Amino acid sequence: MSGPDIDAEPGTVYLVGSGPGDPELLTVKAKRLLEAADVVLHDKLPGPEIIDRLPEDRREDVGKRAGGERTPQSEINERLVELAREGKSVVRLKGGDSFVFGRGGEEAEYLAAHEVPFEVVPAVTSAIAAPAVAGIPVTHRDHASSVSFVTGHEDPTKAESAVDWEALAATGGTIVVLMGVGRLPDYTAALLEAGMAPETPVALVERGTWPGQRVATGTLETIVDARDEAGIEPPAVTVIGDVAGTRESVVDFLQNDYGAAEGEK
Ligand code: SAH
Repeated sequence: MSGPDIDAEPGTVYLVGSGPGDPELLTVKAKRLLEAADVVLHDKLPGPEIIDRLPEDRREDVGKRAGGERTPQSEINERLVELAREGKSVVRLKGGDSFVFGRGGEEAEYLAAHEVPFEVVPAVTSAIAAPAVAGIPVTHRDHASSVSFVTGHEDPTKAESAVDWEALAATGGTIVVLMGVGRLPDYTAALLEAGMAPETPVALVERGTWPGQRVATGTLETIVDARDEAGIEPPAVTVIGDVAGTRESVVDFLQNDYGAAEGEK
């Protein structure tokens, strides 16, 4: 028979997080599924070391379409269902954890609505791992009893901004901002305006656990200049709070030297 057998039992879709980028931080389960999958749908965020190891004939880059614009989520959803209905075992590989700003929830809903069986494979999120490998714990008994993970993608001056920066400023806990390189000036200003101390430590960790990882540090007042001086680009996380200041006391002995060759360790 030619073409896919549309009457076949649908294959399973595995919503797999890759971790932040170091292949050794893949879970054992993620590694096994990547080896066994008929096809892996990925974008760039799992990082070069993980992506380059995927066999080329079994992977599809669904990050960007020709021309450079982002593949719409609806197209990715449809592709997942299409492949599963061909009876394939499909891995949808996302950077970090699929359910942390990874649209894994939307994919799960779409698959369920189309009666495609799926399994969720949790992973190490960059929101915790990128600060960690830079020497920053997101909580600390002396400094932070809570941590908030927020998107920096939104315009904080918009009345309907989904992130309540004023409320975050009041919690006194650590704030980890994802997708927040571009709008760093906007949300640091919003936090200052909400009354956060200008000397609050802030760190940017770019490409955490990738070759060439970089870190820039400063305060709420100085971090924009530090970003520009270091030329920090996405993907990077922003860590705001006293925990970011503890890095100084450990960094000389920290052996996570992913990017040590380049710039500041
Ligand atoms: N699901 C991912 C987050 C996806 S949103 C996770 O759990 O990590 C994309 C954002 O994640 C980026 O803009 C950046 O803020 C962050 N990010 C992902 N991988 C990163 C890495 N290796 N180092 C630093 N930030 C990273």
